Amino acid sequence: MAKIYFLGECLVELRELDDATMAQSFAGDVYNSAVYLKRCFPKITVSMVTAIGSDRLSEKMLTRFKSENLDTQLVFRHPSKVAGMYLIETDDAGERRFTYWRNDSAARKVVEFLSDGVVDQLATADMFFFSGIPLAIIEKHSRNAFWQKLESLKQAGVKLVFDPNYRSQLWAHKEDAIEQFDRAFHLSDIALPGVEDLTVLYGIESAQEAVGFCQQYDLEEIVVKDGPKSVVTLAGTERLSHQISPVTNVIDTTSAGDAFNGVYLGARLSGRTIAEAVQLGAKAAGTVIQHPGAIAPLAAFKQAMSE
Ligand code: ADP
Repeated sequence: MAKIYFLGECLVELRELDDATMAQSFAGDVYNSAVYLKRCFPKITVSMVTAIGSDRLSEKMLTRFKSENLDTQLVFRHPSKVAGMYLIETDDAGERRFTYWRNDSAARKVVEFLSDGVVDQLATADMFFFSGIPLAIIEKHSRNAFWQKLESLKQAGVKLVFDPNYRSQLWAHKEDAIEQFDRAFHLSDIALPGVEDLTVLYGIESAQEAVGFCQQYDLEEIVVKDGPKSVVTLAGTERLSHQISPVTNVIDTTSAGDAFNGVYLGARLSGRTIAEAVQLGAKAAGTVIQHPGAIAPLAAFKQAMSE
């Protein structure tokens, strides 16, 4: 049975409901993707690779992973750090504002837990997914070790999957992100970038241009997301432009790309064609954006996916 690992950070999410009340949940790009993949393809083993703290919210986070049927064997517990957190506020103009407390989070230490034994375990997977967010947060002195471990996985035949998910506030210098992303694209088998992320870093303005950029690397599958406009894919010599049905009732676009990534990869691991996988990924993303927050309610999500 297919198996995929998602490496990164899940955060405690606080959402302001009114001046005196906050709702608390959990979110983070790789976690969001893992959740939507598992919800759509329950037979696939979907595992989180992260470090949490020993605080009560970290405990709750672990319980949440389990309640979403994610495998937690490689969720490591740091003895003194805590889970990262972020707050979503809506200002008077209706714009969302994000404040993060993640500089000292347990997840930044995840590479320390990736022993040779753990890498052997990761090497049994079909796919390993990582994004530009874990690349930004893992400690600089761990980077070389991280790349060496990824090279071992690649040599073992695990397909490496990368989404740049560029967040400018996580990088002290744009050049640093460009250098790390270059390594990631070089090593990866599948890339799932969004056009917007590439615009800021490389001045790329369209999905076709983004595909052209990715072609300089030895990628087996290139999947470029461009919001409601299109998804453009290239595999071998087959370049396809897929139509997306625009959603009119957009409530919150948080995690649209994450939902797309998870469901796309689940579909590919289940033997679906690229075109079928794009349609399923887009359906999941189109559903998620009609709900507030990163994780749509299970019942509503399942109902929409079955229609
Ligand atoms: P990201 O969230 O990574 O910035 P995009 O904005 O490109 O990525 O969105 C990811 C996917 O979400 C798109 O490929 C598309 O399938 C879906 N999507 C985004 N916005 C819309 C929309 N307004 N209507 C329908 N689908 C959308």
